[in-house]
Amino acid sequence: MAKKCPFLPKNEMLEDNYKQRGLRNKLVKILRNKGIKDDRVLNAVAKVPRHVFFDNALLEHAYQDKAFPIGEGQTISQPYTVAFQTEKLEIKPGDKVLEIGTGSGYQACILLELGAKVYTIEYNKKLFETAKSFLPKLGYKPYFFYGDGSKGIPAKAPFDKIIVTAGAPVVPDALINQLADGGILVIPVGNREKQVMLKIRKKNGQLVKEEFDYFSFVPLLGEQGWNK
Ligand code: SAH
Repeated sequence: MAKKCPFLPKNEMLEDNYKQRGLRNKLVKILRNKGIKDDRVLNAVAKVPRHVFFDNALLEHAYQDKAFPIGEGQTISQPYTVAFQTEKLEIKPGDKVLEIGTGSGYQACILLELGAKVYTIEYNKKLFETAKSFLPKLGYKPYFFYGDGSKGIPAKAPFDKIIVTAGAPVVPDALINQLADGGILVIPVGNREKQVMLKIRKKNGQLVKEEFDYFSFVPLLGEQGWNK
């Protein structure tokens, strides 16, 4: 049975007071201690309210450094993971960024805070619709797309940066093709349980690959994802 998105019923409760801001500052300290260095990324985490994606009953979880279910078997990524991927993207204001896996929309908000122009695509219709109606209420306006992001969004390519927020079995060719020269793709690749974080930079048509830590994402579905 489909589970209701927990952040839906509380859409109207967008209060963001000193208490939430205090909890976010604590979270920023945690992320700094775990190795996130980019102040612009940390400032974005300090700005974006994460508790508004949680049901009232679960508020205490909002500023812990943990992933959390958002319904439909999906999760809002762990803040450390969001910060890690964002840091690796080296976002500059005005960058055109493709995010694969909108989910709750939290990661998209972080990218927008950094001044990126964000194109975000989600494969689950319900999550797509929820994020599309919810994010603008918070003042965040990415371009929303519904469909299989493992194929990218050819009509909107090229992108300066591409971030995949679901675990992929391989690096989809389509994403390499849609990356601008000088662009960066950050993608977790591995099996269904755990994936290594890859940063791939396109330089004069050549790919320069770096490997980082292991993470555990929900699977990337679709044509170049898990259920071919
Ligand atoms: N970025 C999200 C976390 C995403 S969880 C956040 O900030 O909350 C991964 C998301 O990827 C899920 O919502 C899942 O439905 C979506 N997904 C899985 N395969 C996909 C595909 N092929 N295209 C687009 N979205 C996909």
